[in-house]
Amino acid sequence: MGLMGEIVSFLRGRRAPHPEPPLDAAPADGRVEIVPVCGIRGEPNRKDDRFRRFLGIEPGEGPIRKKSRTRGFPLLLGRVALGSLFLDQHGKDWSDGEIAEAMGSLIRAGEWIEREAMRHGAAVNLDVLDTYFVAEDPVRERDVAIAILPEGDHEGLFDADAEVRLVAAASRAAGAMGFRDVADLAERVKSRLACDTLVWLIHPRSAGRSFVVPEADTGMRGVSLAICYAREDDFPGRLSGPPFSDPATFAHELLHLFGASDKYGVPLATFPRGTVTDRDVMRLEFERLSRLRIDPGTAREIGWRPVE
Ligand SMILES: [Zn+2]
Repeated sequence: MGLMGEIVSFLRGRRAPHPEPPLDAAPADGRVEIVPVCGIRGEPNRKDDRFRRFLGIEPGEGPIRKKSRTRGFPLLLGRVALGSLFLDQHGKDWSDGEIAEAMGSLIRAGEWIEREAMRHGAAVNLDVLDTYFVAEDPVRERDVAIAILPEGDHEGLFDADAEVRLVAAASRAAGAMGFRDVADLAERVKSRLACDTLVWLIHPRSAGRSFVVPEADTGMRGVSLAICYAREDDFPGRLSGPPFSDPATFAHELLHLFGASDKYGVPLATFPRGTVTDRDVMRLEFERLSRLRIDPGTAREIGWRPVE
């Protein structure tokens, strides 16, 4: 997972020179709050009524802040809200049960990040929006072009245009729900929340290799996307079988959005002593979150430790 993310974050994602942590940030408490988005009409999820599917937005959000944003990764500090946009694909819709499972996995990923934050003494609190968004994304099979690119010490197959295609799909989906585009969706939702940062998980109902498109690469203010496929697969395509929403993938991709870089494919000795172990979540040597952790090297990248 996340090789695209690696390339993206390595080549283009650079942190702003002096990102400021929020002043009033509370310590992590290990809990993920499910927060309401005000002024939204929604339909309760039939499997988990803590969540509702977006139906429409009422006018009257707070003023849209036009302050210029730093181009780079935000710090994983303060109150961070996680939004979800589900894309129905290949004529198959996300069911309420599948969405409830994905939201449950997202909460587990958030709780794991908060527990790691407690270990590091980092002041971050994660919220999951009570409202999720669903729209159809008509994928034409011939749109998927495969490129061969170097991957560690060999070559790998990459869905060459995934980044452009998924950002466009997210925008079309936002349009279908009555927003101007995905930037409008992100802005209007954020204006109804009390959070420092809002990032989005895009869940295409297909198989593929998850990756991220940070704000600097979407080219849209406030649009920071983690594309998490319904099932991880090196080769993009239709889903055979049910979705599998993996909390470890969610955590890994979310950390990319805050500046964490991949640490697999190279020997551990490459890293300064004591900064990265085989347990680091960006190293991907274990599949279960319970075996993974955020080591000092990754903690530094996301703003949890001072940069030496
Ligand atoms: Zn990655």
